[in-house]
Amino acid sequence: MTLFLLASAFILLFTLSYVCLCAASPFGRCRKCNGLGFALAHDRKGKPKRGKHCRRCDGHGIRIRVGRHLYNLWVRTYRHGTR
Ligand SMILES: [Zn+2]
Repeated sequence: MTLFLLASAFILLFTLSYVCLCAASPFGRCRKCNGLGFALAHDRKGKPKRGKHCRRCDGHGIRIRVGRHLYNLWVRTYRHGTR
């Protein structure tokens, strides 16, 4: 029983912290380019240089968090339903 309580408390804590994260910072770094907006390429001397434009984030380097995206969908649906 205590294990169940511990597990549910842990899940609740994780969910609350993710909600706070989505409220405080709705955008995260793009996973493909790691926030750069482009891929890193190297020239022949081995120096890093700007590579291809990131198509996933269109060069912005940010993505919307999944939780914030779901919240935005919920708010949009709620507003359309209550107008
Ligand atoms: Zn990107």
